[in-house]
Amino acid sequence: MIVGIAVIFGLLIGSFLNVVIYRVPNHQSIVWPASHCPACKAAIAPRDNIPIVSYILLRGRCRNCGTHISARYPAVEALTGILFGIAAYEFGLSLRIVSALVLIAVLIVLSGTDLDHRLLPNVIVGPAALIGFILSVIESPSWWWIYLVSAVGVAGFLFVLALVYPGGMGMGDVKMGGMLGTFLGPYAALAVFLGALCGALIGGLLMAAGRIRRRSALPFGVFMAVGGIVALFVGPGLWQAYLRLIGGA
Ligand SMILES: [Zn+2]
Repeated sequence: MIVGIAVIFGLLIGSFLNVVIYRVPNHQSIVWPASHCPACKAAIAPRDNIPIVSYILLRGRCRNCGTHISARYPAVEALTGILFGIAAYEFGLSLRIVSALVLIAVLIVLSGTDLDHRLLPNVIVGPAALIGFILSVIESPSWWWIYLVSAVGVAGFLFVLALVYPGGMGMGDVKMGGMLGTFLGPYAALAVFLGALCGALIGGLLMAAGRIRRRSALPFGVFMAVGGIVALFVGPGLWQAYLRLIGGA
């Protein structure tokens, strides 16, 4: 039941995240004007703004001008719905789920802006870091310093990397790493590690295929976002398994 509600909630939030991804890098308001077709500017009627369903019914075209609408819109909606559903299944009705849903939404937005513009906007990362820290402290007040140390530690580590390998990573990545620390605590390190691993694998494949020249052409924020989602769901489980492994050895 709660999983179903979370999926539907996720689809609606996903629809809003599409607007945020499209408008924030262009410095447009995310609340005004209402959704409109990017080609003909016609306002999108509520019946044509139902997540996924409208896209299928309209066969991916604007009702007014017939311009093709990117499949990424329903994809973002579906992804948000699925991840919200997994979060509800994993965390149930708890304080943890609030922070999980916020983190998922933020990571989807940052992936979108990083893919489109190689941009991880401060107006997203900054407030997200603050909200992440507040939610983490509300959930486990005595651990407040762990989240602080994690944020500063991960950001500091990425900052050094950015200095050593200029062009490989930007200050946006550094700040995003710090933000992950406020939500995930020490598991943010796992997120960055998984992101780097994923980036190296995909970058290597793309370079071997001659699709890109340099690994720095890749949006590292997207890989960190993937690592962040994995760390959110399986981080504590992996850590327990590791402790059992070294405890039993
Ligand atoms: Zn149109």
